Amino acid sequence: MRRCESLFRQLLHSLGFDMPVAASVIFIHPEFTLYHAPLNTPLIFPTQINRYFKHLNSLPAKLNGKHKRLAEKLLSLHIEESPFMQLPRYEYEQLRKGIICASCGSFSCAVQGRSIVCENCGHRETVEAAFIWSIREFQMLFPDRKITTKGIYDWCKIVDSKKRLNRILEKNFNKACSGRWSYYK
Ligand SMILES: [Zn+2]
Repeated sequence: MRRCESLFRQLLHSLGFDMPVAASVIFIHPEFTLYHAPLNTPLIFPTQINRYFKHLNSLPAKLNGKHKRLAEKLLSLHIEESPFMQLPRYEYEQLRKGIICASCGSFSCAVQGRSIVCENCGHRETVEAAFIWSIREFQMLFPDRKITTKGIYDWCKIVDSKKRLNRILEKNFNKACSGRWSYYK
């Protein structure tokens, strides 16, 4: 946060705005907790956000054209995708298929009834949960590919029956149609 604060100050200065900066770290996930948070640090937790904004709004201040220009300038400088993200090139065909253990990352998982058990570390989870994770990974790796029963059957390998797969897909995703084919969203 200190680094951000310093960089932000430099940015303001380079844009010709000299304003005081008050920095805070705001945790927005509603279930986030931080145990033993040090007192007097500029941390704002989910349950404090409303109060924080109320406080901000109660401060007497006049917004003028300069503030608006700054807001517009900051919006125009916003970068959606980090230029520092470097992803390796990969193709669907190159990747090993199968369900990965959520605990150790091993491919040595076997179906036992309604569970998937890792033969490497013993981690156990429901077929459904493991399967949904696997689809999420598929979506993230191949955002342009549609989720179809056949495609996911090939991706997960381990799930023994297409019927079971269909049940899980139908329960957790929305079915959509394009022409003769149906897929899931
Ligand atoms: Zn494992």
